[in-house]
Amino acid sequence: MRKTLVAANWKMNGSREFAEAFFKALDLQGVSGDVAIFPPFPYLPLAASLLQNAGYERTFVGAQNVSQQAEGALTGEVSVSMLKDCGAHYVIVGHSERRSFYAESNTLVAQKFLAVKESGLVPVLCVGETLEEREASKTLDVIAAQLDAVFALAGGDCWSGAVIAYEPVWAIGTGKTATPEQAQKVHEFIRARLGAAGPQVQILYGGSVKSANAASLFEQPDIDGALVGGASLDAREFAEICRAA
Ligand code: 13P
Repeated sequence: MRKTLVAANWKMNGSREFAEAFFKALDLQGVSGDVAIFPPFPYLPLAASLLQNAGYERTFVGAQNVSQQAEGALTGEVSVSMLKDCGAHYVIVGHSERRSFYAESNTLVAQKFLAVKESGLVPVLCVGETLEEREASKTLDVIAAQLDAVFALAGGDCWSGAVIAYEPVWAIGTGKTATPEQAQKVHEFIRARLGAAGPQVQILYGGSVKSANAASLFEQPDIDGALVGGASLDAREFAEICRAA
């Protein structure tokens, strides 16, 4: 049986005050799966310490992005070892906002995935199609290419110990969630594509997840949790989603 994981991606939202209030309000009683919070870089150490003080088991912090390079003259970049120093356990790579607004290619995402994997942190690889690609029936081709680029670089056993998040771009921040059946179809495809590691890998759904739709998504056999954006900025709403997993 795979464990569930519900993750909060705050994106570029929040402040010190927000983080303090969020962790004060976060009540994870009754949550049985893993929980992770992805604040912006500057609040990682604070989030890690507030979460530790809360004393819940199986709760983690993660980063929303990372450099593919280990160190050097790379102004504005943050390395995996720095994230480790800050208490991160997970690192998101290939979020669609990075792919579209910062032109991150499948190859760059693969390099970031490999850097995270080699550091011993856990990559959360985001994949997903745009509305145009879905309407052109290219969903599975797009996702296959996103996965295959990582496998081509990281190879062998790259999927074991990794997390995948299926985030259809048209469902992110739009209020339009994929139906549980639409999401399940893609999750099943992803799992099959992961080969021998597939049955163990947590595959999360992301895109307008809220407490009202979480349970029906989590009922699907290949949906192991969620990567939550907007709804994760409300500690009570986020905890409700965690309880549904
Ligand atoms: P929303 O939950 O706001 O749609 O965002 C999803 C997402 O991009 C999580 O990474």
